[in-house]
Amino acid sequence: MSRIAFIGLGNMGLPMARNLLKAGHTVVGFDLSPQSLAALAEAGGVIAGSVGDAASGAEVVVTMLPAGRHVRGVYEDAGNVFDTAAPGALLIDSSTIDVDSARAVAAAAAARGFVLVDAPVSGGTGGAAAGTLTFMVGGSDEAMERARPYLAQMGKTVVHTGGPGTGQAAKICNNMILGISMIAVSEAFALADKLGLDRQKLFDVSSTSSGQCWSLTTYCPVPGPVPTSPANRDYAPGFAVDMMLKDLKLAQAAAASSGAATPLGANAAALYALFSAAGNGHLDFSAIVKMMVGEG
Ligand code: NAD
Repeated sequence: MSRIAFIGLGNMGLPMARNLLKAGHTVVGFDLSPQSLAALAEAGGVIAGSVGDAASGAEVVVTMLPAGRHVRGVYEDAGNVFDTAAPGALLIDSSTIDVDSARAVAAAAAARGFVLVDAPVSGGTGGAAAGTLTFMVGGSDEAMERARPYLAQMGKTVVHTGGPGTGQAAKICNNMILGISMIAVSEAFALADKLGLDRQKLFDVSSTSSGQCWSLTTYCPVPGPVPTSPANRDYAPGFAVDMMLKDLKLAQAAAASSGAATPLGANAAALYALFSAAGNGHLDFSAIVKMMVGEG
């Protein structure tokens, strides 16, 4: 069993840390929020007073933080992970961050003798609690094999996507597909309404035809056809509009810096930004249908 430092005990990090505790590791946690620290202690974890204290002597460090600047600060600032973790420690960043920051922090880690993987997740807070997350892992073969047993204790599926940064690349490419496809499905329902085509009938046809996709058949944005979709509970998330917007912006930043043409991704980011600015950031992202059918 390992001594694991866990930095960032929010909606995702806390349940992931609980699963590492259940697996028998010693988890020393740090978060800026006292409530998160108290919750970790209740689950049997050890509370640290700072990033450096948590990482001090740790063989493994897991980070689950909001954005690239937080990740770089937690690893690179004086007295933090690079200055305190055990020599050669395994560093796992599961935050969703920009590809450039992921690559920069991996290179800085290697220069200090550490092994770092970018390992963002899909599966949401439910998957984090149930230990069924999917990890997309960027890093060397050696880093992947060292990380695999820990990731398997927090998730169900682990995909090695390639070298540093490719985990983040996989995450934002996937979520760009999702953001665009949800808008496509929403526009189809809006057009169906105007044409007098019953929503359930459109679902019956498209769910078994070439328009079939996850946004339609699992996460249908209108109430009725898929009783478990957020549309049936007033769009309580789920996966919030502001989370989708964050990932679409990351995809646009990566497209700009790599020279990829992603015009539908750009439009999806703009539509989600408008919808969020109208006060809908907390709703499930499938609520974008309200914009198309004229309800939001
Ligand atoms: P969150 O805001 O609930 O948690 C982030 C935590 O990091 C907070 O508790 C905050 O206090 C802490 N933090 C920030 N700066 C810190 C620092 N310097 N030192 C210590 N702690 C610090 O966010 P979340 O929902 O847990 O998401 C975390 C990451 O996972 C994000 O990158 C997000 O995009 C990604 N993600 C979230 C979901 C989801 O459904 N919530 C799904 C997939 C991926």
